[in-house]
Amino acid sequence: MALHLETPLIESLPLSLASGRSVWLKMDALQPPGSFKIRGVGAACEHHARIGKRRFVSSSGGNAGMAVAYAGRRLSIPVSVYVPETTTERAKALIRQEGAEVIVHGAGWDEANARALASVDADTAFIHPFDDPLLWAGHATVIDEVVKAGLAFDAVLLSVGGGGLLSGVAEGLKRNGLRDIPIITAETEGTASFAASVKAGRLVELPAISGVATSLGARKVSDRAFEIGQSHPVECVVVSDRAAIEACTRFLDDHRVAVEPACGAALAVAYAHADQLQRFERVLIIVCGGATTTVAQLQAWQAT
Ligand SMILES: *Cc1c(COP(=O)(O)O)cnc(C)c1O
Repeated sequence: MALHLETPLIESLPLSLASGRSVWLKMDALQPPGSFKIRGVGAACEHHARIGKRRFVSSSGGNAGMAVAYAGRRLSIPVSVYVPETTTERAKALIRQEGAEVIVHGAGWDEANARALASVDADTAFIHPFDDPLLWAGHATVIDEVVKAGLAFDAVLLSVGGGGLLSGVAEGLKRNGLRDIPIITAETEGTASFAASVKAGRLVELPAISGVATSLGARKVSDRAFEIGQSHPVECVVVSDRAAIEACTRFLDDHRVAVEPACGAALAVAYAHADQLQRFERVLIIVCGGATTTVAQLQAWQAT
């Protein structure tokens, strides 16, 4: 049995009314480690366990690290997660709660990642947060489930960080004969590396990342994500941090599920930028989730 759950697919009346079209939600916020990441991470970890790896390593203090920690516990394989000093106590606690070892190293992610890679030996699998075909094949199951449920949709709306979810959804559309269905990508202003690359027609590396949507904070998307931007119909929407936070709080009231601003970015397109959805009648939103979200944090952001 796969490590991820088949998540609910629900019609959202509040989002349909807000955007003036039919909106359906794939509720991956309900995955046990809090986000869609377990789909790809679970598939990758199962693969590595099968070929005899005896330890998993991650350098993500976010949802990818949590998914690796969860997969390791389920597969009884030890996990080490290398994170920088900036990682929140809550994130470290959630990873440790899964039984994984947390090693704090360096001022930024680059240093933590270098230390993680240096610890990899022949028995270890390094699990990348977004750039690995094993991950994309796992993420593609989110589309398999929607197709199996019989829902017809004419656009998919999702958030983009490094582009792993985008790559998986594109693969899922393709393997279900839906490669013409456009993907609407959402990023925040301080993380819009995919939109910048699509606009420039080449892979753009942002000088820096800023804002609250930390899970979208890849300065450069993967080569594969860029290729999808060139070959699959995509439309890029960039929203403000404020709009992403407001979408999170509205979604909490509307659907009683807390998600982080990285996910709020996609919801904000339907709540506040419905003009971007004009061509579509039935939009599928991947509600990607976010494990570190708390109501107190959302309230604090909302107040600033
Ligand atoms: C990882 C993540 C993203 C971005 O996914 P990528 O595969 O890096 O593009 C968006 N939202 C949440 C909640 C995430 O955990």
